[in-house]
Amino acid sequence: MALLPMQQNQMPSISIHPRQNHVVYFSKGLKNPILILNNHEFWVHIKKQMGTRWRCGMFVRTKCKAALFTSGKIVGLLSENHNHRPPIKKRNNDHLVRQNVTIIRDINLL
Ligand SMILES: [Zn+2]
Repeated sequence: MALLPMQQNQMPSISIHPRQNHVVYFSKGLKNPILILNNHEFWVHIKKQMGTRWRCGMFVRTKCKAALFTSGKIVGLLSENHNHRPPIKKRNNDHLVRQNVTIIRDINLL
């Protein structure tokens, strides 16, 4: 009786990937571009040589603490807890620039 080859029926172990591929959009702002992530808008806060710090576009109105950092195609979430719902805006999608990025959580870049 021939033995069937051992089959690897085990599910691949689920590991936590701190890196996620995601899509963000850039829209033209008055001076700087606006970054859109999950329908939330982020405005340029600080530009540094190593990248740009963005903070939530609702910061002025709601003191929202959500902020992120971009360096090339890396988006680091500094804080993703918004204290409000995403603003609902009609956008002209023709002006949005789509960008594939890698999102990193729990970073300590700044
Ligand atoms: Zn916010």
